[in-house]
Amino acid sequence: PRAPVVAGNWKMNPSTSAEAVALAEALEAVDGREVVVFPPTCYLDAVATKANKNVALGAQDVCVLAESGAYTGAVSLPMLKSMPRVDYVLCGHSERRSLFSDDDDAIRAKVRGALDAGFAAMLCIGETQQEYELGVTDDVCALQLAKALEGVTAAEMANIVVAYEPVWAIGTGLVCPADVAQRVHSSIRQRLRATYDSSVADSCRILYGGSVNPSVIDGLMRQSDIDGVLVGGASLDAATFGQIASFH
Ligand code: 13P
Repeated sequence: PRAPVVAGNWKMNPSTSAEAVALAEALEAVDGREVVVFPPTCYLDAVATKANKNVALGAQDVCVLAESGAYTGAVSLPMLKSMPRVDYVLCGHSERRSLFSDDDDAIRAKVRGALDAGFAAMLCIGETQQEYELGVTDDVCALQLAKALEGVTAAEMANIVVAYEPVWAIGTGLVCPADVAQRVHSSIRQRLRATYDSSVADSCRILYGGSVNPSVIDGLMRQSDIDGVLVGGASLDAATFGQIASFH
């Protein structure tokens, strides 16, 4: 019953607006799947103009300190709202956590802001390599989930997509084995069931992210609790991303 999501996080790529437009033009929608891309904010307008209307768009980050004012470099929720076709805001990505000091409070505020502004929030959680080796993956994910979703109601959960992205699998070529990812996804869903109810848990899409490529997508998507993927590097080539989106 959960519609699969194939999302592409372009991160700080490509280097030029012309390349972003070319990538946007080459994106293909796939029947029965929600295809979403997160371009850099400065390209959102151009991508919205050029991308297939059945591909959804999201922003990689937002500033929720204020709606406007003296916040040099920042982009606010009303600004994103005024752009065409932006449905999602990515929250809690590990690169935001580690490189831009987004802590649990900041992430919770971004989730809250995104929901209040009428966006869906794609919330990323995941453990570091050290935490993975210590065997505390489920605890780390549960804590990040609880903190980010503090105050989010069961009804609002319809606008939350969770992305499990083990930090050690991001950009490393080390894909989390499908059975391991399935176990973590199942534990995340169990947490949602305990915090909310079965209906929230059964309808929330939980995506896997971390070195996803065409050779691993089918194995991941065969897992009962993996509802899609959040793709970084492999989303920068439209043909490769298209192959991932057309998983069997
Ligand atoms: P890679 O697919 O490049 O590992 O990136 C994953 C990611 O961080 C998506 O948000």
